[in-house]
Amino acid sequence: MELLKQRILKDGKIIGNDILKVDSFLNHQMDVQLFNEMGKEFYRLFAYKKITKILTIESSGIGIACIAAQYFNVPVVFAKKTEARNLDSEAYLSEVYSFTKDKTYIIRVSKNYINSKDTVLIIDDFLANGKAALGLAEIADQAGACLGGVGIAIEKGFQEGGKILREKGINLKSLAIVNSMQDGEISFAE
Ligand code: 5GP
Repeated sequence: MELLKQRILKDGKIIGNDILKVDSFLNHQMDVQLFNEMGKEFYRLFAYKKITKILTIESSGIGIACIAAQYFNVPVVFAKKTEARNLDSEAYLSEVYSFTKDKTYIIRVSKNYINSKDTVLIIDDFLANGKAALGLAEIADQAGACLGGVGIAIEKGFQEGGKILREKGINLKSLAIVNSMQDGEISFAE
């Protein structure tokens, strides 16, 4: 998606070798007009799947998922990362290793909000090693739901997540795929 790529080139900052900081428009301050365009694009890519629910993970996926959900006209469910005793007995759980925080945590989604009648679209801001997306896919699987696809704003193509998901046959679409971030230069896949 050209608009997102141009914005990454304009405002993205490379941290170390493998972190792209886009918190001026994507995951801290949020450019809602850009999110609107991203939402339309996700709808164009996944509408044919007859999505009934969008699943994301707190916190940075929530804004993008909510704006996209207005085009699909479906609810958003976000996986929680913190423990809640009242939730856990009635929840689907999955383990996720966070590459940016170097820590493993358990994500949880109430059994009330996803079921076997759902076709789920997973949405997140970044795809790096694929752990968050795979954890969410596992939750959809535990619920017996159909996985309609995974929609990502920024995939880092030099990390393994995209390859792992595509090899599993998951219908993955990323709005921008960053192929390299060497010497301060960001380049994209076509
Ligand atoms: P994965 O689970 O695919 O390894 O990583 C995806 C998650 O880590 C996303 O939910 C995102 O919040 C975070 N993440 C991974 N790489 C980056 C990055 O380069 N920049 C930012 N801001 N977040 C990232």
